[in-house]
Amino acid sequence: MTRIAIIGGGISGLAAAFALEEHRRAGVLEYTLYESSPQLGGVLRTEHIHDCIVEAGPDSFISEKPWAADLCRALGLGDQLIGSNDADRKTYILVRGQLIPIPDGLMFMVPTKILPTGLSPLFSWTTKLRMARELLHPPRPLGADESVASLVERHYGSEMVDRLADPLLSGVYGGEANSLSVRAVLPRFAEMERTHGSLGRAMLAGRKKMQRPANNPTPPLFTSLKKGMQQLVETIVPRLNQASLLTNTPVQSIQPRTGGWSVSAGLKSDHFNAIILALPARAAAHVLSVCNPELSTELAAIGYSSSITVGLGYDRDVRQSLPPGFGFLVPRNEGKRLLAATFVHNKFPHRAPDDRALLRCFFAGSNAENIWQLSDDAIIAIVRNELQQILRLRAAPLFARVYKWKSAMAQYGVGHLERLDRIERLRPQLPGLALAGNGFRGIGIPDCVRSGQEAAKQVLSLL
Ligand SMILES: Cc1cc2nc3c(=O)[nH]c(=O)nc-3n(C[C@H](O)[C@H](O)[C@H](O)COP(=O)(O)OP(=O)(O)OC[C@H]3O[C@@H](n4cnc5c(N)ncnc54)[C@H](O)[C@@H]3O)c2cc1C
Repeated sequence: MTRIAIIGGGISGLAAAFALEEHRRAGVLEYTLYESSPQLGGVLRTEHIHDCIVEAGPDSFISEKPWAADLCRALGLGDQLIGSNDADRKTYILVRGQLIPIPDGLMFMVPTKILPTGLSPLFSWTTKLRMARELLHPPRPLGADESVASLVERHYGSEMVDRLADPLLSGVYGGEANSLSVRAVLPRFAEMERTHGSLGRAMLAGRKKMQRPANNPTPPLFTSLKKGMQQLVETIVPRLNQASLLTNTPVQSIQPRTGGWSVSAGLKSDHFNAIILALPARAAAHVLSVCNPELSTELAAIGYSSSITVGLGYDRDVRQSLPPGFGFLVPRNEGKRLLAATFVHNKFPHRAPDDRALLRCFFAGSNAENIWQLSDDAIIAIVRNELQQILRLRAAPLFARVYKWKSAMAQYGVGHLERLDRIERLRPQLPGLALAGNGFRGIGIPDCVRSGQEAAKQVLSLL
């Protein structure tokens, strides 16, 4: 019987296990999933507090990428999928202490409507002139990789980087625009510059092509599950073979052996024909350090940033006093520690009763590291102080919870895709080893699901 080890029980590893499960039932293979912590699901964790659904980790996934929603449907969760309340989709940027809405028609940071952007106080006249001139930007052949900040600055100037690109990327990657790779993080932008020159013209041309018929409305920007993201984990885990799931079992190392691999966890080692490593890249580097130092070094060089989320529940009065919309982003030069806050009750109304406000505050990178050692109470005090400055919110929360995620968000630095090519070239030295997880081609949940499923396909192709 073919034996497969899956190492890591986050959503990448669980998606791989689910893809292997039907083959196990058919008697074709056996698998063992190793997870170091007591729980499966990795960073997908939801708490139910005061009738609110509080997400400790991710709160949703983008609808444009199909793999997570498809997995939910395959698990029978189709009727549990909910869309973000895009009718209320307004996001603010803090500029000199004031919350300014991102103007209508700004797609990521590319203006596609002249009037709202031209009238918005979010940008200075210098930046607005740059936006107009950007439409004449000549096409540029693909050169060496560069940072997102460098590409955006070339098109729109540094104010666009500071006020929009950097806060938007911090909210998604917990990283900084001046270190993230444009080719890995915003490949469409690099391609649009190559084909059209102007990002504005490319975006408009793309939109024309993608005009949807009236009977096929635009899907919501974000998708989630009615009972929270942990519902995905709670549905997938019972569908797996329980005897195959080893929690509290960190893997120390893996070694190639005749006809396969040996996996060492604790005092035990076991033999497998193939392995799916579904770990954060640094943890994967550690288990591979003896068997392939070169691959291990490449994996270890994929950076990760830490993050802290704080969920706060408030009463009806606060809900009525908060601005409409999904929340706000804070540029670094505003001198705050908070990077973003989501008004969850507006973004996903299912997540809080009508008489509650639910806020989710986010710290990442050095802002998270600087407060990491503080007690939860001290972190809550920082959040409350900043919410008071930004939203004039003085009321005490009904509840507040702090969740810390050490080195959980991969940072695709400049040159990331070249590193992935080098990793690909090294993999034939390790037949039967597949890599999955957020360190490679997408940190969002849909990409992680896809990576787990592709890793399962790779090992199945060996059978
Ligand atoms: C705070 C936060 C908010 C986010 N928000 C969103 C969002 O809204 N939408 C979105 O799409 N994405 C979001 N993401 C990103 C996304 O959630 C993650 O990239 C994704 O869930 C990672 O899944 P994974 O299985 O690859 O890794 P992980 O969830 O990190 O799982 C890896 C698992 O491996 C285990 N492990 C580690 N070492 C070992 C070992 N030696 N042996 C055995 N097991 C080991 C760990 O305990 C862990 O359970 C967010 C991430 C964070 C941290």
